[in-house]
Amino acid sequence: MQGIKDKIRTIPDYPKPGIMFRDITTLLQDARGFRKTVDEMVQPFAGTRIDKVVGIEARGFILGGAIAHQLSIGFVPVRKRGKLPSRTLSQEYQLEYGTDAMEIHVDAIQPGEQVLLVDDLIATGGTAEAAVKLIRAHKGEVIGCSFIIDLPELGGRKRLEALDVKVLSLCEFEGH
Ligand code: AMP
Repeated sequence: MQGIKDKIRTIPDYPKPGIMFRDITTLLQDARGFRKTVDEMVQPFAGTRIDKVVGIEARGFILGGAIAHQLSIGFVPVRKRGKLPSRTLSQEYQLEYGTDAMEIHVDAIQPGEQVLLVDDLIATGGTAEAAVKLIRAHKGEVIGCSFIIDLPELGGRKRLEALDVKVLSLCEFEGH
């Protein structure tokens, strides 16, 4: 079977010039690829109690939903500003130009819950850092962050590790 990395499609200059977009739809549409991805994203946490999976909008929902189902635990979405319908907690983060915010429902995580954070890709780590802060604001414990792809040159892993978060990725790509 082809490896996970081989099933990820790269679209040059999308959504803007200079970005190599790592498209996981080609991995997800492959039955064995999708299953292997979910298995490998949770395998390092076997034996660790996990109470909730938090997925980051939007591709983190697909992966996080499948992982939560596999572990028979609850799923919590972290969404961009203004998308969640009930009361939320908000965390701003830096974009290339200006700021944006990620939000979580105030009743989504209970104090002391052990949380696995999930997204498809870590680049600068800004989005994941905002999600970690939202979980910690609820007194949840981030037991790890699981990504399919790491772009090491952008430093996201180091940024999360500096926050004392364990980071797992299944493959790496050079550049942006
Ligand atoms: P960052 O906050 O810089 O770590 O960016 C991570 C978020 O942006 C993730 O939700 C990714 O899905 C998306 N992202 C950033 N760079 C890429 C890329 N080269 N290809 C695909 N998605 C990306």
